[in-house]
Amino acid sequence: MKYTVTLIPGDGIGPEVSLAAKRCIEATGVDIKWEEFIAGEEALKKFGTPLPENVIESVKKNKVAIKGPIVTPVGTGFRSVNVQLRHALDLYACLRPAKSIEGVSSPFKNIDLVIVRENSEDLYMGIEFPEGAMETHHLIDAINTLSPKKIRPDSGISIKPISIFGSRRIVKFAFEYALKNNRKKVTCVHKANIMKYTDGLFLKIAREVAQEYAGKIEFNDAIVDNTSMQLVTKPQNFDVLVLPNLYGDIISDLCAGLIGGLGIAPGANIGDGIALFEPVHGSAPKYTGQNKVNPTATILSGVMMLEYLGELKAAKKLEQAVKDVIKEGKSVTYDLKKDRNDPSAATTSAMADAIIEKIK
Ligand code: NAD
Repeated sequence: MKYTVTLIPGDGIGPEVSLAAKRCIEATGVDIKWEEFIAGEEALKKFGTPLPENVIESVKKNKVAIKGPIVTPVGTGFRSVNVQLRHALDLYACLRPAKSIEGVSSPFKNIDLVIVRENSEDLYMGIEFPEGAMETHHLIDAINTLSPKKIRPDSGISIKPISIFGSRRIVKFAFEYALKNNRKKVTCVHKANIMKYTDGLFLKIAREVAQEYAGKIEFNDAIVDNTSMQLVTKPQNFDVLVLPNLYGDIISDLCAGLIGGLGIAPGANIGDGIALFEPVHGSAPKYTGQNKVNPTATILSGVMMLEYLGELKAAKKLEQAVKDVIKEGKSVTYDLKKDRNDPSAATTSAMADAIIEKIK
C-alpha cells in the first residue's frame, strides 16, 4: 500500500458523506489503505469517551486523516471532539478555500477566496469557568483586584489567549500558502480596535510577518464586522484571509454561503507534517440516515488530501469529475437543484456514483 489514511466517519450525516468520499477517492486509483475509527456519539456509547486514544494514535502514525463532522453538544455535554483533535495533533492551520462552482446557484459569481483560520488558540482553547463555581469566584476576585473594570459575580468566563508564537506561525502559513499558490494578497482580519491585547497582538505580528513578503505578496487588514459587510458587497476585494480562531469559524460559513452553501465547502486542518481533512459543515442531524445530503464538501476535502499527498493528477481528475457532475445538474442532491423539493434530486450515494462514472 502506498498510503495509510485514518478515516473517521463521524456523526449524523458523517458516515454517508465519508463513504461517498472514500468511494470517489478510491475510484482515482490511488493506492490507499484505510484505518477506520469511530469518534463522537457512538464512541461515547461504546467506549465511554467521544475521542478514544487510539484515534489520535492512528492519525499521529499515519500523518494523514479524513473525517466526517462530529456532533458537539450545545452549552453542556462533552467538549468538541473536532477541537480536541486539532489541539491533540497541533493542527494549527485551518485551510478553507471558497471557490464558485459552475452550475451552483448563488447571487455571487467568480468567488475565489481562501480562509486561513488559526486553529489552536483564542476562545476555542476551551479555558472556561462556569457561573457559580468556586474557581470562577476566585478568578473574578483576582481580576477585580487587578483591573479597574469590575466583573459581575454571577458571570461565566471564557478565556481568549492569543500569543506571538501562535499568531506568527499562522500568518507565516498564510503567506507561504499565498506564495505557493500564486495568490496576490493576504488580509488580516481582526477586532483590534476593541481587543487591543489579543487581536491587537495578532495584527502587530501579522504586520511584522508581512514585511518579510513585501514586494511579493500584498498585505492589508480589516476589522471583522467590516469584513463581513465587504464580503457580501465586494468579495473581489479579498484573496487570502488570515483570522484568529473564532472569526475564522464564522467567516468560513459566510464564505460557504457566498459560493452556494455548506454542501460544497471543503477544508483541511494542517500541522507540521500532519493533516486532517474535513468538510466545513457539521453533522446536520435532521438529515441523518436519509442518504440525502450533498457529499461534495467531503469529496473536495478528499481532493485537498490527494493534493497534500502529492497525487496531483488524481486530485485534478476527481475535482473535474465533481465539477462536471454539478455543471450537468442532473445527478446532484436537493440543495443543488433550483427547486429544493425537486423529486429528481439524486441521493448522496447516487451523486457519488455519477462522479465515479466520470472518473472512469
Ligand atoms: P450543520 O453544518 O450541521 O448544518 C446546518 C445546515 O446546513 C443543515 O441543516 C443543512 O441544511 C445544511 N447542510 C450542512 N451540510 C450539508 C450537506 N452536506 N448537504 C446539504 N446541506 C447541508 O450545522 P449545525 O446544525 O449548526 O451543526 C450540527 C452539529 O454539527 C453540531 O453538533 C455542531 O457542533 C457540529 N459541527 C461539527 C463540525 C465538525 O465536525 N467539524 C463543524 C460544524 C458543526
